[in-house]
Amino acid sequence: MLEYYLLLRSVLRAKPRLRACLTRCRHCRIFFLTHPRNANRRHNLRCPFGCRQAHRQQRSTRRSVEYYRDPRGKTKKSALNQKRRAPVSPGKLPEVPKARGLEPEPVLAQRNEPMIEYVRMVVSLIEGRRVGRREVLEMLERVLRQHRLGRRRKIDHTLAWLNEHPP
Ligand SMILES: [Zn+2]
Repeated sequence: MLEYYLLLRSVLRAKPRLRACLTRCRHCRIFFLTHPRNANRRHNLRCPFGCRQAHRQQRSTRRSVEYYRDPRGKTKKSALNQKRRAPVSPGKLPEVPKARGLEPEPVLAQRNEPMIEYVRMVVSLIEGRRVGRREVLEMLERVLRQHRLGRRRKIDHTLAWLNEHPP
């Protein structure tokens, strides 16, 4: 958390014009950067670190609860279930699109979509160019690998020190 704020501070110091994008989550109060197009309505935003997703999830649950409570919704649902139960004739199986030599995306990608989009936006703003999703994923993988490596080195170092200075 502290690391995150230090990073945010150094980014703002390096790119003062991004200060206009600084905002605070209305739910958890964390500071984050928003896209310049949101800069004028930035007092009512939720952060991409979970609050936005949670809110979206809540809203969609509420919507579907209301929908199925409505009698018209109910008949629709039972029709849908009947359709689902109906056997699919073998000739009508949907064709699976063939992969066109694309590598599977790093594991990271499946984990946190809004977070990746956030990093992509911030990096684009900082670099003043459109940074692609794949580029962000590669960058994140690299950073995480270095982080893990650094931690392992620290542990090794501590172990070495303990060996030299037994208690
Ligand atoms: Zn939040």
